[in-house]
Order: sequence, then C-alpha cells, then structure tokens
Amino acid sequence: MHEGALCECIVCGQFKPQDQGLHIVSEFICGSCENEMVQTDVKDEKYPFYVHQMKQIWVHKNV
Ligand SMILES: [Zn+2]
Repeated sequence: MHEGALCECIVCGQFKPQDQGLHIVSEFICGSCENEMVQTDVKDEKYPFYVHQMKQIWVHKNV
C-alpha cells in the first residue's frame, strides 16, 4: 500500500500526510489548521497569527 509523504505544516509545524491538507504554492497547511483557519473569525486573536503564517508563503516565493 502506498503511504502518502509527510509535509510540514507551515502553521503548526507538524508533519502531516500530504493528502490531508492544503497545498499553496510550495507550502502546506494541514487539514486541522485549514479547518481552524476557516472557522477563525477576523476578530479572533489567533487570526493575525494565521495571517502571519500565510505571509511566509509569499515571502518564500519572493526570496
Ligand atoms: Zn497544521
């Protein structure tokens, strides 16, 4: 049986199966973080953290 490769989630930093998350450019967000982000309100204190993590995607891309 083929087992999916693990990808490092840019939000929580954990390694999760690559088929259980979201790939944006060359970055990966695991399914649980993706769900949390979707449910996180803009007014939530965790929201800036997610935005910050997401920005790293574009930082990586521009370097
Ligand atoms: Zn994660």
